[in-house]
Amino acid sequence: MDYGYAGKVAVVTGGSSGIGLASVQTLLESGAKVALCARTESRLNDVASVLIRDFGKENVLSSAFSVLDPEAVNGFAAQVKERFGRCDLLVNNAGQGRQSTFATTSDDDWRAEYELKLFSQIHPVRAFLPMLREAKGSIVVVNSLLAYQPEPHMVCTSSARAGVQNLVKSLSIELAPDIRVNSILIGMVGSGQWLRRFAEREDQSQSKAEWYGALAKNKGIPLGRLGDPSEAASAIAFLGSPGASYITGAHLEVSGGLARHI
Ligand code: NDP
Repeated sequence: MDYGYAGKVAVVTGGSSGIGLASVQTLLESGAKVALCARTESRLNDVASVLIRDFGKENVLSSAFSVLDPEAVNGFAAQVKERFGRCDLLVNNAGQGRQSTFATTSDDDWRAEYELKLFSQIHPVRAFLPMLREAKGSIVVVNSLLAYQPEPHMVCTSSARAGVQNLVKSLSIELAPDIRVNSILIGMVGSGQWLRRFAEREDQSQSKAEWYGALAKNKGIPLGRLGDPSEAASAIAFLGSPGASYITGAHLEVSGGLARHI
């Protein structure tokens, strides 16, 4: 689907895998030039080579660093400005979940989780703000359903995710009317972290479809399966696009119906 990104520039953090990579591909297919980052240089380079092959060198910029390093994020923004001259969409996607109960979460774990969840938003927003303002662009935050529907075995992540959702709302007000800020709430999407858990499954004879199906049944996902990264990418591309021009401070659930609240 073409979301209307011709002539636009998008930045995707955590673009080397899963939802981030699917978003990069969807945005490139819709005509955007895309800058992506991730920490692991080898994987990022492999992904960037394929993207350059498929979409052209002039449309892809990649850089390896952690979004928790403010100097590196500022340097990336400068690279995007120099190479593409603008930024119309920032997708804050980089991150991962932490499985722990209250009893098994140490103070250091709490600090690390809050640092990851909040500064993975704060640093990129601050760095790309001038370009986003100039372009009257938008920000899409990839968050989790856990923000509204906490799970006891992910206590720390759930709590930090609620903070992110609160920040999204504040930003949508402070940055209006120039910049729209929205989020998607992921339930369970079969990306890197689930593929890693699949690889470590107890019964190695189970196929991916069987394992994902059993997981979805166990979790009570009404649509009966995990989401595909491309399905999260569609929601991201829509929220960032001109088609969502009157939407800000909103969230879109991409959970196959797993959300229980109304
Ligand atoms: P993946 O593990 O497939 O991808 C995560 C991406 O983020 C990778 O490119 C990774 O590369 C990058 N990344 C992680 N930490 C950093 C960092 N500090 N700085 C820069 N890049 C980083 O995961 P998903 O696609 O599943 O996850 C995408 C987002 O969606 C995450 O924020 C995740 O928490 C969230 N989410 C996903 C759910 C799901 O079911 N899949 C559920 C709820 C939320 P590298 O490791 O090389 O840095």
